[in-house]
Amino acid sequence: MGRSKEADGSACSARVAVVGAGPAGLYAVESLLESASGLGVDVFDRLPTPYGLVRYGIAPDNQRMKSVTRVLRNAFDHENQVRFIGNVCFGVDISRMDLLKHYDAIIYATGAQAERRLGIPGEDLPGSYGAKEFVDWYNGHPDAADRNFLLHVKQVAVVGAGNVALDVARMLIRSPDEIASTDVPDRVLDAFRNSQITDVHLIARRGLVQAKFTPVELRGIGDLVNADVVIRPEEVLLTDDDEIRIGSDRELRTNVTMLREWARRPLQGKARRLHIRFLRRPARILGENRVEGVLLESNEQLAGEQVRGTGSFETLKVDMIFRSVGYQALRLPDVPFDEARSIIPHNRGRVLDEIGQLTDREYVTGWAKRGPSGTVGTNRSDSAETVCSLLADLAARGSYNGSDPEQILTLLDNRRVDHTNWANWLRLDDHETQLGRRQGRPRVKIPDLRSMLELSHRSNTPGSVESPD
Ligand code: NAP
Repeated sequence: MGRSKEADGSACSARVAVVGAGPAGLYAVESLLESASGLGVDVFDRLPTPYGLVRYGIAPDNQRMKSVTRVLRNAFDHENQVRFIGNVCFGVDISRMDLLKHYDAIIYATGAQAERRLGIPGEDLPGSYGAKEFVDWYNGHPDAADRNFLLHVKQVAVVGAGNVALDVARMLIRSPDEIASTDVPDRVLDAFRNSQITDVHLIARRGLVQAKFTPVELRGIGDLVNADVVIRPEEVLLTDDDEIRIGSDRELRTNVTMLREWARRPLQGKARRLHIRFLRRPARILGENRVEGVLLESNEQLAGEQVRGTGSFETLKVDMIFRSVGYQALRLPDVPFDEARSIIPHNRGRVLDEIGQLTDREYVTGWAKRGPSGTVGTNRSDSAETVCSLLADLAARGSYNGSDPEQILTLLDNRRVDHTNWANWLRLDDHETQLGRRQGRPRVKIPDLRSMLELSHRSNTPGSVESPD
């Protein structure tokens, strides 16, 4: 400790730990490298894979968006400065105190690991699932490796009017051939090939101007080869308040125009249908032993954030329901947390303790900082703000920890943590892309952790480890 040096934020030999290798964490690394030379950065992740929600959140049929990994991976081109330390769980394998001891600063970039609930009767009936469970499954997340979704039902509801609900609805309604050109695990592809789904009902509790879809994502459902979009014209009428809200908001106007056009468009008799229902609140999930339907209450068309029922109900018969009403960050062990807002409290990225005082050398970025909002790119400016605070503090402090970078690896070894590095990830990456090449797909994901680790450590020859699919 205590190696002293003039620190001006542009040239320093401090060491920074980034917890979470998703877009927020990797944009923070990019920002650190751009703003200061000589820094050492270790990026920890609980999985042996980088990219977080880019790999496990963005829908498989949106490979164009997943190509942002080409930018994010640049962080690891700086071999002597930036290390990936995967398969290390913060709070289990390594603690906050460990990181404070070995690094000059910690950046938490752990995202939002849980999801909100509806809080209505029937929510836990078999056949009612959180969207995250489904997203994890189709994206080959190890947390869902033991999961299987049998899509042997005809009618499905998706609750929520955000981009995740749209992703889930689109994946459910796509043709198997379209899914077959993505990177889903083989087992997932089989489930989609055997899908009996004919109708997906997307349920929005407010009106079309309050839906949180972004235009690019919404446009994606308008020309699905296998599905008509069905919208009731009476549910997309605009009030004067709606017109005021749209005003000069071009994105919102684009959405509204698209939705109203689809409501007028004659059905083309495609095999499947995506129904978008506005102003409908799920009041109860119905069924004896499993989901048989959902009771919907009509809501009033109000301006702003308000939601008010009309007392008029209808039953929608569905066999499966996905709740997609927003993600939520969870408290990290020993790290301050604002329970009411489900974020790590901060001031411009500097972590605050429970009484609002600045903590020592701790920072936060991404969804753990601002809540689950924005697109991948939003994290760039978010992380830049956090890094700006961090570098200013380092410069003001003027002395660095001076810990030997090998010590943290020795500590993990002593704890028998099977940690992985960037080269290990590249082996797994290569294996998955080679598997994909054989099937004319961008990659085929390996979803179970044991196989992922074996492939990471051992070999890049496809087929050397039996895929559980
Ligand atoms: P979101 O955008 O916050 O949408 C959540 C939706 O759930 C809202 O429509 C909300 O309605 C609804 N909701 C909340 N509580 C409800 C309740 N009790 N009953 C019925 N509906 C309820 O969240 P998200 O879809 O999970 O997306 C998270 C973030 O990831 C967003 O920023 C999103 O844009 C981003 N994302 C981006 C992409 C992409 O760019 N391709 C893909 C996926 C996700 P109210 O508005 O009425 O509260």
